[in-house]
Amino acid sequence: MIRFGIDLGGTKIEVVALDARGAEVLRRRVSTPWLDYRAIVEAVAGLVADAERELGATGTVGIGTPGSISRATGLLRGSNTVCLNGKPIKRDLETALAREVKISNDANCFALSEATDGSGAGAGVVFGAILGTGVGAGIVVRGYVLDGPNAIAGEWGHNPLPWPRDDERPGPACFCGRYGCIETLVSGPGLERDHLHETGDAIKSHTIVAGAELGDMACEVTFARYEDRLARSLAHVINLLDPDVIVLGGGMSNIGRLYQNVPVLWEPRVFSDRVDTRLVRHRHGDSSGVRGAAWLWGR
Ligand SMILES: [Zn+2]
Repeated sequence: MIRFGIDLGGTKIEVVALDARGAEVLRRRVSTPWLDYRAIVEAVAGLVADAERELGATGTVGIGTPGSISRATGLLRGSNTVCLNGKPIKRDLETALAREVKISNDANCFALSEATDGSGAGAGVVFGAILGTGVGAGIVVRGYVLDGPNAIAGEWGHNPLPWPRDDERPGPACFCGRYGCIETLVSGPGLERDHLHETGDAIKSHTIVAGAELGDMACEVTFARYEDRLARSLAHVINLLDPDVIVLGGGMSNIGRLYQNVPVLWEPRVFSDRVDTRLVRHRHGDSSGVRGAAWLWGR
């Protein structure tokens, strides 16, 4: 039994083949012909056909991609590979591959990968949050992606920052048209913009983190503010969902001190006398997208 997982991104299309135990038996990638919808469909179908020939076996196909498929129309929306928007990509891929395919967004695939055999393995409810250039999240309950009527479960990046102080209002402008979205504050660019705003120094997020580590007071103040904002954002999630585990992915998730400091900071905001939710780093990293896509067909 082979499960193919495909990460359909704006710059590359990657396929992984997992055997029944979740071991990776093949991985291939091609660049995305990002301007040409038909060429993208053919590239995905070609990757699967080549992999099946190489392995001498057929398998199920799951696809992770930014955006989501509207339940009402069956068309993809919200993808940063804009030629995919408004297209019946699920139907067209099913025709090209001559089988049913499952599609979910990349944040859901991340959460599913970590819940299946990653840092959230064995937990009943997993909230998987990607803190990178943008902020996205997915929810997995007992091994299944929570997928509601709007296909947006977990998407809290464009909620406003909870418990804002007066000097945090209205907050930075967001591409979505609102102000003070969680994404504008806990993404990598959000950290950099905040540091620039407070200090006048335009430096990269990893330089801010390194500066804080070396005792640079301005960097430390910025990063402590980042941790507090992340803690508030996640305290809201805990109050609403009460997950067993919150798994972090994306570039910001590699900062080790978050896992000590954020749970201390979320504690007073969670409506409970104690908080047993664990905050953990991803296990599969950049592979979570393809692995989670493969697991869309179940364990
Ligand atoms: Zn927003």
